[in-house]
Amino acid sequence: MKVIIFDFDGTIADSFDTVLGIVNRLALEFGFEPFNLDEVKQLRNLNSREIVRQSQSRISVFRLVLLLRRLKAEVNREIRRLQPIDGMTETLWALKQRGDRLGIVTSNSYENVSAFLETHGLKDWFEFIYTGTTIFGKGKVLRRVLRDNTLNAAALIYVGDETRDIEAAKKTGIRVVAVSWGFNSKEILAEQHPDFLIQYPHQLVEVINHLDPKSQDSIR
Ligand SMILES: [Mg+2]
Repeated sequence: MKVIIFDFDGTIADSFDTVLGIVNRLALEFGFEPFNLDEVKQLRNLNSREIVRQSQSRISVFRLVLLLRRLKAEVNREIRRLQPIDGMTETLWALKQRGDRLGIVTSNSYENVSAFLETHGLKDWFEFIYTGTTIFGKGKVLRRVLRDNTLNAAALIYVGDETRDIEAAKKTGIRVVAVSWGFNSKEILAEQHPDFLIQYPHQLVEVINHLDPKSQDSIR
């Protein structure tokens, strides 16, 4: 049995296009140029710190914080229309069948994640949802998960789509599975040396079976 902690946006929820649409819609109000497709492609190849550094040419750190707060409120209006990543529901179910415990650590809001899970009948599958408010605050939140649940870092696996997810997990001593179906490109994710790098949700079950073969046997 493993405790598998998921990032939300881009990892479970197929929210990239929705988020980009909202950011571009807010561009005028926040006084920056909307992102075109080439720029988006470029952003995917940057690590999270480079993205924040680059965005400073468009928007001040202060306005960026305001933008992120506003973004969560705007996402909330569209949350029930967001879909899970293809194959994710089946993967979560397979992990539940294995007896794994599932949780979420996200910088999105509790309300948004919770509404999404309810819409897709996934709410009961997750034991906890932890939220952090800052872009690079996930390490702290992961430590809180360990502390609150008296878990050993060795029992935990974090699954995320951005380089900052890898960074946060590594800092906390938690193994990390990077997924290339979300925001960051496979290449930039690989540069951060995640423990595993996968392209399709079903591969997550293979990774967990590999890490935890005993419980796989016990359910046969
Ligand atoms: Mg994400």
